[in-house]
Amino acid sequence: MADVISPESPFKEEVQQYLKESGAKEKSEEILGPFSDLANQIAEALWNAVLPGSPGSSLSWELLLLTAVTAIGFWFFRKGRGAKGVDGRERRSSLLEYVLPKAIYTHQSARVDIGLYLLDKAMMPIWLLLFLGSVAPFVEKNTIGAMQSLFGDSPAVTPTIAWQLVYGLVTILMADMIFYWTHYMMHKTEIGWAIHKVHHSAEVLTPLTRPREHFIAGPIWAFGPAIGVTLSAAIFAWVFNGGITRISVYNVGIFSMLYALNGNFRHYHVSFRYPRWLEYWLQSPGMHHTHHSYLEKHWDSNLGLVTSVWDRMMGTLYIADKYEETPWGLAPQDQAQYTTLADNLTTPFKEIYRIVRGKPKTTLATPQSARNSGSE
Ligand SMILES: [Zn+2]
Ligand SMILES: [Zn+2]
Repeated sequence: MADVISPESPFKEEVQQYLKESGAKEKSEEILGPFSDLANQIAEALWNAVLPGSPGSSLSWELLLLTAVTAIGFWFFRKGRGAKGVDGRERRSSLLEYVLPKAIYTHQSARVDIGLYLLDKAMMPIWLLLFLGSVAPFVEKNTIGAMQSLFGDSPAVTPTIAWQLVYGLVTILMADMIFYWTHYMMHKTEIGWAIHKVHHSAEVLTPLTRPREHFIAGPIWAFGPAIGVTLSAAIFAWVFNGGITRISVYNVGIFSMLYALNGNFRHYHVSFRYPRWLEYWLQSPGMHHTHHSYLEKHWDSNLGLVTSVWDRMMGTLYIADKYEETPWGLAPQDQAQYTTLADNLTTPFKEIYRIVRGKPKTTLATPQSARNSGSE
């Protein structure tokens, strides 16, 4: 698993070069002292998770193949059932239509995914550098400092397998919590929703829909992990007296792998659900189909990433029936403003301008829950 940050990653050199050139690496070493270059390790792991072609990316050929093979398994055991069409309705299909349906992959929405994805990725190095070069070292230094002044010197716990699991679990729960609240704000605030609608304007779900966001959403989504993962790493750096580097790589690596596979099925037309009782605790990828539905009963549902705990607490959990219809996209009057690539790039700016100017609400950019919908 450690090879998620494999030496043969084509981006490893680039990442290190970037960090070096920006001065982030030197700076973080200077600040971190004996705790070494944690932020740098995390940068690499996150980098690997977001860039296509790297082994930890959901868009690497290994993970795409794994997604397809899993779908073939579903087709076989469900006797051709469990895949949804462009209309979000489940139907029985032939194997090829089940795994790679023509109507979905030639849809305009799937093409817009590609354009948005490329733009988002072009901006991502800037956000990652900004947060990992400044926010992460800052959080790390202060967290370790706080631990030392509260509890004294590190107990220098030996990082056994059990402790590594505790560390991994804490990191995942922290990331899950931060994801939920970031996502909640994206849905429940006017400006957040104007930006995040770009993700929800996808009328079909493909693995490329996962990173489909307006490029200005990049820093919003990068901020949480930079803080959460670093906070957890810094606490455990104190617990293990700096013996964290190897473990941090290991854990962040596992997390990005799980996230990548889960992410592919969250945005795929084949339903992948857990037993009902388990969905009250963990988010199955299929629960995200409901999140993307424009039916009013599905609005703002299942905002979580890993656990369902926050959704339960905030009343946003929606456990759908097996193969429940989930037509994807925005309600029709909003969809009209977010259909082409140009729309998706410009409408959020127009909306933010309107909101900042205090102009009266239209149906656009109204938080989804308050939206005056034409959906049925
Ligand atoms: Zn959302
Ligand atoms: Zn989504």
